[in-house]
Parts: sequence; structure tokens; C-alpha cells
Amino acid sequence: ATPTAILVGTGVGAEQGLLIKGGDVLERVHQLDTVVFDKTGTLTSGHPTVTDCILVADDVLPSDLLQIAAAVESGTSHPLAAAIVQAAQKQNLSIPAAKDFYTEPGLGVSAQLKDGVTVLVGNAQWLSQNAVNISDTASLQAQTLAATGKTVVFVATGDCLIGLIAASDTLRADASQVVESLRAGLGLKVMLLTGDKLTAAKAVAAQLGISDEDIIADIRPAGKAAAIQQLQAQQQRVAMVGDGINDAPALSQADVGIALKAGTDVAMEAAQIVLMRDRLTDVVAAIELSKATFQKIR
Ligand code: ADP
Ligand code: MG
Repeated sequence: ATPTAILVGTGVGAEQGLLIKGGDVLERVHQLDTVVFDKTGTLTSGHPTVTDCILVADDVLPSDLLQIAAAVESGTSHPLAAAIVQAAQKQNLSIPAAKDFYTEPGLGVSAQLKDGVTVLVGNAQWLSQNAVNISDTASLQAQTLAATGKTVVFVATGDCLIGLIAASDTLRADASQVVESLRAGLGLKVMLLTGDKLTAAKAVAAQLGISDEDIIADIRPAGKAAAIQQLQAQQQRVAMVGDGINDAPALSQADVGIALKAGTDVAMEAAQIVLMRDRLTDVVAAIELSKATFQKIR
């Protein structure tokens, strides 16, 4: 393509809400083999709601569980954090003050309550890293909830597990159509990459016709970048579509990183394409634009 054609291409993109950071980016888009999607906030709405609060310790009330978790989650900006805080507010629970907020991306959060008790909210790995034991019963309950596609987090005070909170998220309305267009229409491989458990990922993938072998789950933010690198080592040219801070390393690593506008600033900075209208269908639009720009003139 001529420099003029490329300029026109990126200009047309801008008009359609596709912020493409350079002609070389537009060129790489039509050479892609694989499109990898983050799950939460990318294929799903990113606005999960709390569905279950399950107590494990017998000296705690269900409302305590939610209250304590909300106190800790109020210090972070993850979609799960918003869901937990909202659930507490909906029940008119007061959210206790906390300090020393700490967020470990892809794992969970911690903070200290007024009485000096440390609270942890996060996945099994986050709790075991902090020396909290998860009983077999609790693990099984988590597994059962995850099998329906729910995301499960554990809540601990000190080194004691007090309960489980599950949240469910809905697929974006255009997710199925986009996966289908990429695969059947454009002949690309579509994969799902998530920090969530494999069980939950499978339930979502099944709704989208993504097969189990195309799921990479239970993975830390740095692991997301490594997963992309591994695909690239197999001579695949890879696009990563994501929204979160946890996706930033993978967005940078990919041949083309694509961020959604409603996501975090960190993701938008790391990406080479930003979908300004926050529409997943614009992933397809970007690829079609690149094809139109680069294949016409060959
Ligand atoms: P995804 O890849 O689906 O966007 P993340 O990498 O952000 O997910 O998170 C992976 C997992 O880490 C979550 O499913 C959850 O178990 C845990 N986690 C991350 N952030 C939080 C948080 N603020 N509170 C509780 N758990 C969290
Ligand atoms: Mg996400």
C-alpha cells in the first residue's frame, strides 16, 4: 500500500472509532492468524453481580462476610470489586473503614480493618500465598459455583477462611457474532485467555463455540504475556483483545494489542488499537479495514 493509502486507512478508522496508532499497526492487522480474547470485561460485560455468599466459619453472619469483603474491595477498581461493593450497598450495609489497601493484579486484594485484622479477598492462589488454608469442602463449593461460569473469590480474616463470594457476568451481546465472524468469516483462530479458573472459562467458552483446547485459564498477568509469546513462537501472528490492567503486558507483547475504550487507561496505553466505541464488533471492522487498505493494491 502507498503511504497515502495507509493514511487514508487510519483516517477512515478514526472516523469509525478505531484509534490506530500508526500505519505499521494497520499493516500487521491483516496478517493476523489468531485473535486472543480476555474474558472479564472483554467478552463479558465486565459488570458482574454477586449471586452467592457462602459462609465457611460459623462465627460470622452472611452480612458480615459481604461487609468485610466490601471494605477491602472499596480500595481497588476491579470489576469484581465493584460487584462486591455494590452488593453491600444494595443491602444497605455500612462499609467499614479500612487502610493499607493492597492489590495484587490477577490474584486479589488485602487491607486492614480498624481493629487491626487483615482481610484477604481473592482466588485460591492468593489465599494460599498468604498462608490461609482452604478446606476441601470450601474448594468443592467453589468448584460447583465455577462450573456454572461464576467467578468465585475467597474471603479470609487473618489466616482464617470465612467464606466464598460468587459473581456472575453476562456475555456482551455481540460476543458470539464477533467470534463467529472472526472464525468463519475471516478464517482466524479464536482463543480465550483469562485469570479466572478453567472451570469458569469453559462455561463461557462453550457459549461462544470456543473449544476447550483454545482456552488458557488460571493465569497471572505476566503469564498472559508469556502465553502470547508462546503462540508467537509457533509462528502465529497474534492479536490480543483486552480491557484490564492485567491485560497490559499481553497487549504490549501481541503483534497487535487491541483495547476497549471502557477499559483501564493502562490497557489503552499498552494497546496499538483502541476501540473508541467500546464495541467488540469493531475488532472485525479493524481487520476488514486493514484488508481493504493492504490487499487492494497488491
Ligand atoms: P480476567 O483475566 O478474567 O480479567 P483477572 O486477571 O483480573 O481476571 O483476575 C483473575 C482472578 O483473580 C479473578 O477471577 C479473581 O479470582 C482474582 N481477583 C483479581 N482481582 C480481584 C479483586 N479485586 N478481588 C477479588 N479477587 C480478585
Ligand atoms: Mg478483563
